[in-house]
Amino acid sequence: MKQVYFTAGPAEMYPTFEHHLRTAVENQLGSISHRSQKFRDIYKFTVEQLHTLMDIPDTHAILFTGSASEVWERILLNCVEHESFHLVNGSFSKKFYEYALSLRKYAHKQEKPFGEGFDYAEIEVPEYAEVICVTHNETSSGVQMREPDIHKLKRSNSKKIIAVDIVSSAPYPELDFGVIDTAFFSVQKSFGLPAGLGVWIANEKCLAKSERLQKYEDATIGAHNSLPALWKNFKTYETPATPNVIGIYLLGKIAEDLNAIGAETVRKQTEEKYKVLNKFVESSSNFSPSVAEERHRSRTVVVANTKKPSAEVIAQVKKANMIVGSGYGPFKESQIRIANFPAVSLEQVETLIGELKKMEY
Ligand SMILES: *Cc1c(COP(=O)(O)O)cnc(C)c1O
Repeated sequence: MKQVYFTAGPAEMYPTFEHHLRTAVENQLGSISHRSQKFRDIYKFTVEQLHTLMDIPDTHAILFTGSASEVWERILLNCVEHESFHLVNGSFSKKFYEYALSLRKYAHKQEKPFGEGFDYAEIEVPEYAEVICVTHNETSSGVQMREPDIHKLKRSNSKKIIAVDIVSSAPYPELDFGVIDTAFFSVQKSFGLPAGLGVWIANEKCLAKSERLQKYEDATIGAHNSLPALWKNFKTYETPATPNVIGIYLLGKIAEDLNAIGAETVRKQTEEKYKVLNKFVESSSNFSPSVAEERHRSRTVVVANTKKPSAEVIAQVKKANMIVGSGYGPFKESQIRIANFPAVSLEQVETLIGELKKMEY
């Protein structure tokens, strides 16, 4: 019996994944050269589909890496000479900050307790920070930062680079790439694909910074997937190293399928499912929202406090072939996490809620 995965990544595969994978195998995409026209056409197609889906202008390159956490390191190496600034409110945003420390950057952070989010007005950006690192959707705590707040943050710090982690929300957030310098995601979350591909969106301001750092004798932008190397290859729809060709192909096809529905409709469907989930969590006797402020609640990863140990809840829904995630880290036992990605339908969300309701008394 097939399971329905409401986990936040790896997550439920998008319904058309199997079909596209079969086509990829039939077309022997595992064997084609990444210096062939066939590959360049695949890369170009995926870029075009993402342009449409996420409203990304030509000013931004779309680059492929091994994962999103690799992009944390690439941004810090390529865009930060000395100082970075991080909004930290959970495990992923904290790791981004810790990567900066490991790379011997002078990393600043503004931190919030688990389950709380940031509003623009309270953010104090250090004067010499070169890059502002923001996590749109903190997957560990189910907290989001609203896009208008992210845009204001950049507009009031226009000389700095703003980097937005949209790993567990893309393509949901409506980011204005006229304002956002760089953003990134990986495909095993909201795009419903197997892991193994990171997507890095970056503009010329990021490129110029990395080129400047490259010239300094005492700076290193790293050897692997440096921004100048990725960018140079991108111009001919190639990659410096052998990429995940099948992953890039699948991403283009899923983006095409989402475009057929329409970005706006996909967003509305996400909000509709969120409302149903949120209403259930708010009104249930067994659960309560883990994020107090509604405006900070993630639309794509719903986190709930549980009265019963999370293992009991997980076991209950598993009987009905549904998989929900436990809480993250210290919240493993006391919270559950339900991914609300495009791969799960409203009907499936309602079935899940029906199963969770059976636990009430
Ligand atoms: C999963 C996740 C990452 C890391 O992605 P990988 O593909 O595992 O490298 C980074 N940020 C957030 C918010 C995530 O949810």
